[in-house]
Amino acid sequence: MNASRLSAAHEPDAEKAFFVADLSLVYYQHQRWKACLPDIQPFYAVKCNPDPYIIRLLAALGTGFDCASNGEISQVLNVGGIDPSRIIFANPCKAVSFIRNAAKMQVDMMTFDNSDELYKIARAHPRAKVIVRILTDDSKSLCAFGIKFGAPLVTVPGLLAKAKELNLDVIGVSFHVGSGCYDPSVYTDAIMRARTVFDMGKDAGHTFSLLDVGGGFEDSLFEQAANYLNEAIEQYFPDRRNIRIIAEPGRFYVSKAFRLAANIIARRAPIAGPPAQEPSEPASDQPAVMYYINDGVYGAFNCILFDHQVIHPHVLSMNGSFHIADLEPTHLSSVWGPTCDSIDCVSPKTTLPVALQVGDWLGFDNMGAYTICAASQFNGFELSNVIYTTGGVGAVEVRNVLASFAAAGHGL
Ligand SMILES: *Cc1c(COP(=O)(O)O)cnc(C)c1O
Repeated sequence: MNASRLSAAHEPDAEKAFFVADLSLVYYQHQRWKACLPDIQPFYAVKCNPDPYIIRLLAALGTGFDCASNGEISQVLNVGGIDPSRIIFANPCKAVSFIRNAAKMQVDMMTFDNSDELYKIARAHPRAKVIVRILTDDSKSLCAFGIKFGAPLVTVPGLLAKAKELNLDVIGVSFHVGSGCYDPSVYTDAIMRARTVFDMGKDAGHTFSLLDVGGGFEDSLFEQAANYLNEAIEQYFPDRRNIRIIAEPGRFYVSKAFRLAANIIARRAPIAGPPAQEPSEPASDQPAVMYYINDGVYGAFNCILFDHQVIHPHVLSMNGSFHIADLEPTHLSSVWGPTCDSIDCVSPKTTLPVALQVGDWLGFDNMGAYTICAASQFNGFELSNVIYTTGGVGAVEVRNVLASFAAAGHGL
């Protein structure tokens, strides 16, 4: 509403696209986590969305953090009030200088999946608590990691023996079923493999105490994933007295919390296809109109390219009104980003009202995960700003949690 007023007042950038982040939804996800997985401590995967308020809120709620670089470690530690033991350096392939920096920062937990990494850690951080990242079935996920990370089980005994020889303290096992896992039954097999590796650890003379079940949790399948995990853990780790279980959820915490509003900055008819045999109406399965909005695949919608997302807009406001009639006539449309590259297409086919025009606003839900963090300023288009709210259930709690965190002198 403010944007339309500013635009009418000829304010520059009045129509700029913006995110709305509802921190209550992050809080809600945390409650959901605690209810379904009470014995698994979440270490939020910072790469998914390193928003400073998200990190602050999760820090105040007591989660740990999964960091993959010096930059992420600094960002988390700079918040204040987060002990380095609440960080896992969960990147199995690290530069030596990063390992040395972790030692300096007293970040001790780190993953590995190859023997070179063990030599590097033995040299740069001999007191590290290392965790073997194993390969699991990630074929049921949007983003598979197995071609890049994870030790096949046959290599693990050799790695554990090498770690022993180098006097390294291997404390446990981690895996990642792939990001955006749409078949949570894969957790069962992953836990079974982790059990095998716990036994290998014992054989190699290590005492394992940590099981890290990684990330991959999809919002809509979370309860199902939690059931698979709880059952598998009960089956394969019946005695958990000396075992700490952690996870590295990313998108689960933030996906729903961010929405994007983008303005329609241009509209045009589609380019005609090859001449038809006989003059006829445009084919009914082809978009009738192209809309251009002010964020695209080089910005927030990089999730289309990198995170394999399929995007569908809804109408936020039309002709200055937020009330869009259900019976509004619609037609097939395509939605494009603002840059001069033709790859910059947000939605090749979607249904939008015929009356939609330049100046109207489109809304996009579930824009919190793997969006802003990888957005570029290609072609001179700025990143969309974030506006924070605590709108939903738990708003009072969120504000209290943040206020007491700030009162303790943190997050300033
Ligand atoms: C990306 C990543 C995560 C987070 O994955 P989600 O699917 O967002 O939950 C967790 N752990 C590691 C090691 C990762 O690389």
